[in-house]
Amino acid sequence: MNSALSGLRVAFLHMATYSQTIEKLIEEFGKLPGIGKRTAERLAFHVLKSDEAAAMALANAIADVKTKIRPCRDCFNLAEGELCAVCSDPRRDRSLLCVVEQPKDLLAVESTGAYRGLYHVLMGQIAPLEGVAPEDLTIDALVARVKGGTVKEVILATNPTVSGDATALHICALLAAAGVQVTRLARGLPTGGQIEYANKSILTDAITQRRGV
Ligand SMILES: [Zn+2]
Repeated sequence: MNSALSGLRVAFLHMATYSQTIEKLIEEFGKLPGIGKRTAERLAFHVLKSDEAAAMALANAIADVKTKIRPCRDCFNLAEGELCAVCSDPRRDRSLLCVVEQPKDLLAVESTGAYRGLYHVLMGQIAPLEGVAPEDLTIDALVARVKGGTVKEVILATNPTVSGDATALHICALLAAAGVQVTRLARGLPTGGQIEYANKSILTDAITQRRGV
């Protein structure tokens, strides 16, 4: 009797967990930002119910983004080839360089339609407490680009946060001797805010009313 009962319990416990393959998918979905265990389960079962073509399209899209996308040779924006879409566009004003922290910020500035120059993506901000030093960013490449001679104005569009401001100051000091105009986005943006979440018209004003530093 006892052994029959414990056998039942083992069977029940086994049923209470999914197969290893499904568990693995739930675990991977659960690692995504903002996805809790319940949502991870829902997503995994959604994939399980989907037809094979739809599920493989998702898997391939994830694989492609890791194998085909790389940093742009010139500005470090996300690119499918050697140069990103902005750098390879001959209509862009090559005398203007807008310095942003992340590709997301570049997209936010692009969405305003108020800017027709090129960009430079730092890939972060100087944050000593988090172990991010200037050498960890693309600042050396930025200075080399500016010294190349085509750039006339550098717009510092780092976030209006303590680290964003410190990063802008650091770059400003490095460019002091380069003979270019250095400007910073106007302060319409809320201090401590993030460019990627800024209202489009506020961001447009911040770009058009930028001022020298
Ligand atoms: Zn580029």
